Amino acid sequence: MPELPEVETTRRGLAPHMEGHTVRSVTVRQRSLRWPVEPDFERRIAGARILRLERRAKYLLVHTDRGCAIWHLGMSGSLRLVEPGAELRKHDHVDWVLDTGLCLRFHDPRRFGALLWTELDPAAHDLLSHLGPEPLADEFSGDYLYRVSRGRRQAVKTFIMDGRVVVGVGNIYASESLFLAGIRPDRPAGTISRARYERLVDAIKRVLARSIEQGGTTLRDFIGGNGEPGYFAQQLNVYGRAGERCRQCGGPVRDMVLGQRSTFFCRRCQR
Ligand SMILES: [Zn+2]
Repeated sequence: MPELPEVETTRRGLAPHMEGHTVRSVTVRQRSLRWPVEPDFERRIAGARILRLERRAKYLLVHTDRGCAIWHLGMSGSLRLVEPGAELRKHDHVDWVLDTGLCLRFHDPRRFGALLWTELDPAAHDLLSHLGPEPLADEFSGDYLYRVSRGRRQAVKTFIMDGRVVVGVGNIYASESLFLAGIRPDRPAGTISRARYERLVDAIKRVLARSIEQGGTTLRDFIGGNGEPGYFAQQLNVYGRAGERCRQCGGPVRDMVLGQRSTFFCRRCQR
């Protein structure tokens, strides 16, 4: 599933080829994505000038002089730029042809992705208005997590994966960050000290930033190639390693289920 770093990598890959350009025409081959693509989407965006690409959580916002297109990649979606006349593959659902001739093509076998349109402030859109802060923004701090966690009994891992608390901390990133911060994933969020939350926030920012950095190496594939940035091959400390040796203490990595998500940790290194 595309996570925040993949979406940010997509944004960085697409922006130089899209910003300042005009959408010449749009073809929607499959309207039933997670939500239906509205019937007059093509008419609304054709001729629009793209001002800027922004990422909010896992949404890619394409701001134009007429309104804003909101993309979500869902479980299996990807966006890439192809040359004019590039052969269509199965599950290529949407094309935007730009004035440069390049075509932005949306591919999504499972169709949990979405393409929406708004002429209002996208930050006020139902999908975006309740989202917590961006993990890499300064407002996401140890002090912030400490404050909003007081009185909460839910497991800290479930807490940091809640998009109303902070966006974009997916399952892998949550397990890895908690390991780096030395915090047990099932510890109640309300019992963790400010100092430990500072370490956790630092770990979340480092893990996400490293993934985005590694994704940068796939940017050249955005034109031609298959343009699908996969999971970044960063070395995982605990995720998916149940029964293997902890890289820090040599003890066994454990797993458990929290909030219906598989969770990995080391009993010695995390308290
Ligand atoms: Zn350990």
